[in-house]
Amino acid sequence: MHPDHKTRSTTSLEDRALQNVRLLVERNRQDTGLDGDREHVTPRPIRSAGIIGAGLMGTSIAAAHVKHGLRVVITDLDPRVLSAAPHRIAAIWAGGTPDVETKRVIARLLETAAEQPAVACCDLVLESIVETFGAKSKLYGQLEGQLSPEALLASNTSTIPIGRLAASLADPARFCGFHFCHPVHERPLVEVIRGPKTSDQTVATLVAHAKAIGKMPIVMQDGPGFLVNRLLAPYLSEALDLLLEGASMRAIEQAAVDFGMAKGPLRLLDEIGLDTVLQGGLILAAAFPERITASPLLVAMVKAGRIGRKAGAGFFSYPSPDQLSGPEATGTAAESTAEQIVAKIVAPWARPRQSHTPHGITMRLLLPMVLEATRVLEDNKVRDPRDIDLAAIFGLGFPASRGGLLWWADTLGARRVSEMLEPLRRLGPRTEPTPMLQGLARSHGHFYQGLSSTTPTRVGATSGVKPWPNSP
Ligand code: NAD
Repeated sequence: MHPDHKTRSTTSLEDRALQNVRLLVERNRQDTGLDGDREHVTPRPIRSAGIIGAGLMGTSIAAAHVKHGLRVVITDLDPRVLSAAPHRIAAIWAGGTPDVETKRVIARLLETAAEQPAVACCDLVLESIVETFGAKSKLYGQLEGQLSPEALLASNTSTIPIGRLAASLADPARFCGFHFCHPVHERPLVEVIRGPKTSDQTVATLVAHAKAIGKMPIVMQDGPGFLVNRLLAPYLSEALDLLLEGASMRAIEQAAVDFGMAKGPLRLLDEIGLDTVLQGGLILAAAFPERITASPLLVAMVKAGRIGRKAGAGFFSYPSPDQLSGPEATGTAAESTAEQIVAKIVAPWARPRQSHTPHGITMRLLLPMVLEATRVLEDNKVRDPRDIDLAAIFGLGFPASRGGLLWWADTLGARRVSEMLEPLRRLGPRTEPTPMLQGLARSHGHFYQGLSSTTPTRVGATSGVKPWPNSP
């Protein structure tokens, strides 16, 4: 092929991908989160947010609120964490050392409260405490009676089904999942997760509220891991598995970044916190035992105290653990020390060494993500397949230049994706082509078939669009 021809076709592929991303964003801007007649439910005004849990996520979410002029009351069980919260929130907002004006606005809008009632009187109370069912449901039991009658209650849970969390609430209609992506200041996506009893008013209010604080909300059905963490799980767990098969940390990170991912999976694990990933992983493993198991490496890293950036050490080492961003310790000495420590933790769990090419690693990280996206569609968890691409780009750092996860899969074609999965079949059910992928491969179909307009179109809705082989 003439090189000019190659450059032109690559550019046009990228142009089309970026055009798709613009349409995804525009579609999201218009979406109220409700369909058909229910679109006109009026959202309630949210003027103040009470945030419970001032850890990694609670402080980042608080920063997003104060930055948009909302009053925030934040609390935490741990008094040291609570007293550090204003400083952390200011640093997140400023992306470093805050100036006087930032500190002044924060002093005016942010209140720290040792007691829950101060939080409970806000228009929206957002829980962002540890990812265990027991801790969250105990908190709701204490909290619900203190909420004002109009207040909404939301959880930033990553994985626990909303219906399960709502089961003991007297008023589950005002309860919803409101899941932010880390790092909150870089990832605009927010999942608004409907429990079985969540009201339309609650959904409409949280969608409008997410937009008011500069976010891109997608509304989805309940289920373990919702959307973002279902897509993220294979990306992270295949990286852990690759380490056990002898791939180097550097090779794994490089393969992901060369593809265009904003962060390699091991850095992402460090950023999220390996303890949080493990808790969420256990919930996903219980829900999908045939394809998800908690990695022994994750357990071993947590036991070794290498839980990521917040502890100063995970797969990499961090000079200032308290910073939410910034470089890890670099330089050959620091990197190889971290690599040697991790190698020792890997050793007892190592499996027979496999040889991995950079392309093989990339596909191992990304094709299982495509498969999980097809399972989410088969389960009818999203209102529109394009929400998957929005989530991948704006929640997980998938490259916009590839148009989105499903858009990228479409550029390969379902048949090619199935063929590329062949060498991974040794890994068992998790890499088997799903019925949806097989159907598209047989019919030469596309995920985006019939989805070119910016108007939100529900899977299986009465729009006449039936892009899925298994659509009703
Ligand atoms: P974290 O460990 O950094 O913070 C949790 C905080 O909650 C701690 O400061 C702890 O003292 C406090 N806490 C525990 N029980 C409490 C209670 N009863 N009342 C008040 N405070 C209490 O955890 P995190 O990473 O911020 O995660 C918080 C939630 O956000 C979890 O549900 C997690 O799954 C979810 N989440 C995490 C990420 C991520 O990348 N870490 C992303 C999205 C969602």
